[in-house]
Amino acid sequence: MKDCTGHKEFAAVICSWFAANRRDLPWRRTYDPYHVWISEVMLQQTQMDRAVEYFKVWMERFPDAATLAGAPEQTVLKAWEGLGYYSRARNILKAAAVLVAEHGGRLPAEFDALRGLPGIGPYTAGAIMSIAYDRPYVVADANVERLFARLGDVGSPMKEKVARRDLETTLAAMLQTKGVSPREFNQGLMEFGALVCTPQNPGCGECPVRRFCRAFAAGTVALRPVKRKKEQRIDIVMSCAIVEDKGKLFIQQRMSDDIWGGLWEFPGGRLKDGESPLEAARRELYEETELRAVDFRPFATVIHHYTRYRVTLHSFICALDGKAGPKLHAAQQYRWVPLEGLSEYAFPSGHRQLIAKMMASPSRQSSS
Ligand code: SF4
Repeated sequence: MKDCTGHKEFAAVICSWFAANRRDLPWRRTYDPYHVWISEVMLQQTQMDRAVEYFKVWMERFPDAATLAGAPEQTVLKAWEGLGYYSRARNILKAAAVLVAEHGGRLPAEFDALRGLPGIGPYTAGAIMSIAYDRPYVVADANVERLFARLGDVGSPMKEKVARRDLETTLAAMLQTKGVSPREFNQGLMEFGALVCTPQNPGCGECPVRRFCRAFAAGTVALRPVKRKKEQRIDIVMSCAIVEDKGKLFIQQRMSDDIWGGLWEFPGGRLKDGESPLEAARRELYEETELRAVDFRPFATVIHHYTRYRVTLHSFICALDGKAGPKLHAAQQYRWVPLEGLSEYAFPSGHRQLIAKMMASPSRQSSS
């Protein structure tokens, strides 16, 4: 890999390819550091098309760090709803407050200062430094890893220490090449990986860097990058109670320090050994809220994925029994909200699916 990527010529080909083929993305119009930051965080674990849509809406609502810092957490979580990994949204909000308090509302143009902001790790700091400020910092996402695994015909997974260190050393050296713009080069590599050197069916036939590609020469393109051993999937089964009273539904807001902190949900939790979904829904409702309910009817079962977890969520609609108010044990606050008002609140994926099913099924009697 070192031989083939040490070429000044390689960097020049990537930069000119990028100039001719770059996608017109909203954050590329100004390279405003705030735009670059938000786009980078959104793009983690999110497809480009989806990130662009979220980005546009976000910038209408929160055009700068000062506006963002003044927004309630609930509004920010709602704008993030559907992107998952809600700690990212909470960290963005915290970072915006620091930017206003300590940096005049602007992102600092220093790597270490960026790293000091909540939620900004070395990857995001490097991306902001190179893409917003055009400074020589390495940015190697999955597209770049795949491209270099093939260029160097690397026989080990790119996440392994040695391969990753080689990649970073090579990229750092290339970024020092005279005349290379870090902004253009880094984006060019990521874009090239995303559009040409794709996971399946890479465009080797027309590839402008084919002469540098060892995997192409060796006929091993389909074997690169070498995959890491797959982590085992973990199945989780949960159940929740959707309590109705006088046309309104009970929702509660999770504590801020847990994984979906600040999001809203129907009371529920994991099944215990030997417990049925119905028993779990009844138990969780009482344990979390001390509410009593009757007439539990199975509603829907939905499945969603979170990192390596597959969560099966059962739900039961029930009627409030008695007048006693809730005593919260797993949430910071609660609301009684009509179905059509739930769209004002941010929910985790499984609960959002349940709400969509309720909206589509006014009688709410289905069980699939
Ligand atoms: Fe990727 Fe094929 Fe080009 Fe090699 S020749 S860099 S595998 S597109």
